[in-house]
Amino acid sequence: TTLSTTPHKVKHTTPTGSQLTCKGWEQEAAYRMLLNNIDPAVAERPEDLVVYGGRGKAARDHESLERILSCLKVLENHETLLVQSGKPVAMVPTHPAAPRVLISNSQLVPKWANWDHFNELEKRGLMMYGQMTAGSWIYIGTQGIVQGTYETFAEAARQHFQGSLQGTLSVTAGLGGMGGAQPLAVTMNGGVCLVAEVDRWRIDKRLETQYLDVAYNDIDRAINEALKAKAAGVARSIGVRCNIIHLLEQLLERNITPDLITDQTSAHDPDLGYYPAQISAEKALALREEDLKAYRKLVAQSMARHVELILEFQQQGSIAFDYGNNLRAGAQEACVKNAFDYPGFVPAFIRPLFCEGKGPFRWAALSGDPEDIYTTDELMLNLFPENESLHRWIKLAREKVAFQGLPARICWLGQGERARAGLAINELVRQGKLKAPIVIGRDHLDTGSVASPNRETEGMLDGSDAVADWPILNALMNTAGGASWVSLHHGGGVGMGYSIHAGMVIVADGSDAAAEKLSRVLRNDPGLGVIRHADAGYKLAETTAKAHRLDLNSRLD
Ligand code: NAD
Repeated sequence: TTLSTTPHKVKHTTPTGSQLTCKGWEQEAAYRMLLNNIDPAVAERPEDLVVYGGRGKAARDHESLERILSCLKVLENHETLLVQSGKPVAMVPTHPAAPRVLISNSQLVPKWANWDHFNELEKRGLMMYGQMTAGSWIYIGTQGIVQGTYETFAEAARQHFQGSLQGTLSVTAGLGGMGGAQPLAVTMNGGVCLVAEVDRWRIDKRLETQYLDVAYNDIDRAINEALKAKAAGVARSIGVRCNIIHLLEQLLERNITPDLITDQTSAHDPDLGYYPAQISAEKALALREEDLKAYRKLVAQSMARHVELILEFQQQGSIAFDYGNNLRAGAQEACVKNAFDYPGFVPAFIRPLFCEGKGPFRWAALSGDPEDIYTTDELMLNLFPENESLHRWIKLAREKVAFQGLPARICWLGQGERARAGLAINELVRQGKLKAPIVIGRDHLDTGSVASPNRETEGMLDGSDAVADWPILNALMNTAGGASWVSLHHGGGVGMGYSIHAGMVIVADGSDAAAEKLSRVLRNDPGLGVIRHADAGYKLAETTAKAHRLDLNSRLD
């Protein structure tokens, strides 16, 4: 079924090639990545500067965007641009090894850290929501999350389905910037994915970019197709245009128990990111404008019902996990006492990776030439011949993942591997084997850069889930180490009041100075994650810390 797309208009295009628009490659990288974030091929709603994740923005408003771009053009190599919630506020003298840009997004004093207060400030033009990679200018489209999603489902398969999702049915919702990775991640693992999405244009976008195989408007037809594919053991993703609650109720009615159940609607932002099930989408949008209180009541009831249904399927034998959108907290507030009876994806599947410093390392080709990424793919395969999952991933990504905007790659790499990869990429640039420098970054959803008790730091061994010193140390450390830009955010992933997290991006321009910075930053950044997990008592992290001489004892003995 082909559905119609909503056209988007934007004023700028991302410069590509080897000519500079700015006075150095670090400023140039920030300039290109900011524009790449709002490229129509990349962003969800570029006309509003919304990149992904509900209202996650790259700049506060169009005027701020223009001013950031103007600042980056004149910024010297010994200066630093300061950005406050998407608005440029100063260019200050620093030094060449310092970051070129420092960003703080959506920070609120804890007692005021809620959506109501944020909404008021946003309305008055004083703040923007930076999500994670939106306001830190390192979003690379749905590819940015697809490997993490793939690894999550792969781990679920290892733990519960003998290593493959073949012949299993996963049911979820949300085909937005991040959620859109789910169907492809499930089919890459051999399974069937049935995914509910309310917005027609989102379904269309995932069909166009081949993240989704087919879509239907009729719930029963979509269910029948999913059952057919499951019975035949065929990998297939099926979108259905409906509210997730209607899909789950129909599955219940027909006595069909999904093998896996999760959700990636933007439940972290109840005012904007989650459609209530009691009324149509059109009526919901109108009610939100007319009577926010009434709208919120419907959303709360829906979230409660949604979680009750997930819990019901869990009772029937489904493997249920929360996919990092804080849906459980929404339901708990609406009086579902046992909303947290199913785990988040980090404690369920990801934490051991964090203990080895593994996380979503990514890079983009500033040349705009896909060949540069293919060259770096070969580099990674040669650098890590023993890493089977990396080899399998790069092969799959080359076959199945379409580039959006600047060609980019994501690859979960661990302690030691990230610094090796960064330095080797810098060497390729130095040798002229790539057409322009490469920009290297990561999601904030990483080992040492986030405090988020309902997501990345859920259920820490020592109960330190809400300790936010770690992401703050991360931002300070990467600033001291000389990343090209560093950002500190509040509320990403799970919403206002629920998280503090930091981002870093660093440019490999082939110079000696870049090599020095890369070796520091790409060692320290995951290293702090290993230290954070060792400090919390994880044995695997303690071993990793010792092996890489990250622990204090290896220095003090
Ligand atoms: P998005 O806002 O781009 O998309 C959300 C989608 O959910 C929209 O298309 C919307 O139409 C749909 N939706 C909302 N309510 C619905 C309902 N009741 N039934 C069916 N569809 C509904 O957001 P995104 O970037 O895809 O992120 C989704 C969520 O995942 C966010 O909460 C985000 O913070 C979280 N997230 C998770 C991870 C992770 O790795 N787990 C990473 C990043 C973001």
